[in-house]
Amino acid sequence: MSDIIQLLPDHVANQIAAGEVVQRPASVVKELLENAIDAQATHVKLIIKEAGKVLIQVIDNGSGMSITDARLSFERHATSKIKAANDLFQLDTKGFRGEALASIAAIAHVELKTKQQEDEVGTEIKIEGSQVSSQEVCVTPKGTSISVKNLFFNIPARRNFLKSNTVELRHIIDEFQRVAMVHADVKFDMYHNGNEVFNLPISNHRQRITHIFGSKINEKLVPVQEETDLVTISGFVGKPEYAKRTRGEQFFFVNQRFIKSAYLNHAVNAAFEGLLKEKTHPSYFIYLDVDPKTIDINIHPTKTEIKFDDEHALYAILRATIKHSLGQFNVAPILDFNRDASMDTPYDYKGKIAKTPTIEVDRSFNPFKEESKSNADGSSKKYIGFKKESAGDWENLYVGLDSVTTDIKSTENNFSTIQFESEEVTGSLFTGNEQTALEHTTTYQLRRKYIVTTIKSGMVIIHQHRAHQRVLYEEILRNITMVSAASQQLLFPLKLSFSKQEVALLISVREQLENTGFVFETFESEEVAITGIPTVATESEVSVLLEKLISDIEQEVPDCGFSQTDLLAKSISSSIAVKTGMDLELAQQQYIVNGLFACTEPNITPDNKPTFITLTVDEIDKKF
Ligand code: ADP
Ligand code: MG
Repeated sequence: MSDIIQLLPDHVANQIAAGEVVQRPASVVKELLENAIDAQATHVKLIIKEAGKVLIQVIDNGSGMSITDARLSFERHATSKIKAANDLFQLDTKGFRGEALASIAAIAHVELKTKQQEDEVGTEIKIEGSQVSSQEVCVTPKGTSISVKNLFFNIPARRNFLKSNTVELRHIIDEFQRVAMVHADVKFDMYHNGNEVFNLPISNHRQRITHIFGSKINEKLVPVQEETDLVTISGFVGKPEYAKRTRGEQFFFVNQRFIKSAYLNHAVNAAFEGLLKEKTHPSYFIYLDVDPKTIDINIHPTKTEIKFDDEHALYAILRATIKHSLGQFNVAPILDFNRDASMDTPYDYKGKIAKTPTIEVDRSFNPFKEESKSNADGSSKKYIGFKKESAGDWENLYVGLDSVTTDIKSTENNFSTIQFESEEVTGSLFTGNEQTALEHTTTYQLRRKYIVTTIKSGMVIIHQHRAHQRVLYEEILRNITMVSAASQQLLFPLKLSFSKQEVALLISVREQLENTGFVFETFESEEVAITGIPTVATESEVSVLLEKLISDIEQEVPDCGFSQTDLLAKSISSSIAVKTGMDLELAQQQYIVNGLFACTEPNITPDNKPTFITLTVDEIDKKF
């Protein structure tokens, strides 16, 4: 048989390499920004159109390139940053592989303009799918401008695989921030579709973080500083009381490079031990400087993971340093004494001694009376996360399980005329023929997690959080799509601070949020004032709710309206549904049970998890 092995042509090799280097527009942004920094720029401008799908341009005032270098820069393994393998152990540049420009040029239309300080004129090169289409002399200021257009034009599969603009832009902003956060001594601007997204003047690290995340963050930062033989640590951690439900602002930089490290993250969390509410995550901005010889950044093509020689020591130093800072800035004791206990309830049940559950059967219980009594005497009996005027929902108490698949509207019509005054009426309804009809109204809460109740054929065990999420989800969805929900007016506007991007995101879903009952007074660049909130939510939940919503939207949402509505309903319902661990009064348990079985799809949560299980008498009999 004849020889069959051949060397791949360069443009094919480049396209294959591009798969590793360029996963999405944000990868291009990262490479171009890093090149600008490596070229000693003091001003870097990032211009984006359509989340990078149409244009990514980086303009810097750095060293620029000679004519020959400009042409060579697009060759594979062409780099000015290392000469020998040994140089890998003393890297002080971000790039070193010489792959980025070659890869980008293989899968996009690229235009480069560059000029060195000492040269009269610059060079302009156009290159498409690795083919140089023109090279000319041009007039251009000192530095380099690279435009990358029509990314993945020759790999439709990749192009189609890109996420929505919201998601891709979020990735771009992430990369931009990671570079900008390290190089506070460089001015950075970013524009998207002609609008300024960031304008970051030369400053120090603290100011840079404040410029990026909003001025409110400044008061939340505790400085961290330590110098040892192994490592120099600087940066900030967020005060524990500002810890977030989502892992938003967590950054490690090692030798000016953003990295991810579950191990070091663990060290930070360990330093915060005992200071955080459950399921919250501290913010941190930690800059580590180590001898380049003691790390290996070569293990991952996109270089966000690195290997340390002495990970254990680093862990111990980092944890001790942060612990010390938190102590020194009086964060720890303040938290213990000034804590608002009422804020803790959903989270701190773990440490409490469990109350023995007691079942109280109030034979004369009438949910309507209960509601009106608390309304009349003004006592603010809190049904956390419950819709206050939910009287109508009680009617669903009497809806048989079998009817859940029937149109919810028609069941409402059937039952809305029935007045339930006495136990007798209730009793007769529950002796209907349906096998699954709720037998009587007694419910029982198990381990603050499940609600147990009986049906004709046996018993139902309901997951309280999931069931409530399903109820709220359908209600919110109905409100967004069909009618506007009622709103509770707040006595004082609730002012919440966000970053500029977060505010922009909230504005983009404003209408849907308003349909759920939110009333916004003002949207300022870093602050939102809210005067009304959905009746199903409480004021103290709103900040977490919006925070979670923002992070859910950033991570998942496609640009299509329906899915966005669905996501919004999912996110809000999961935020405000009663949590596992919450004690539920009898009325609350029953509200959930009845609400659930009045849903169009009671069996599962919006994320397809089961909301309840049934155990028939037959199944129970078998166990005896
Ligand atoms: P690497 O950064 O790994 O060296 P790249 O493909 O990113 O590889 O860039 C190749 C070379 O092109 C760099 O080594 C550098 O010499 C030159 N170069 C790229 N971008 C710039 C820029 N913005 N300013 C000056 N030189 C640049
Ligand atoms: Mg590079």
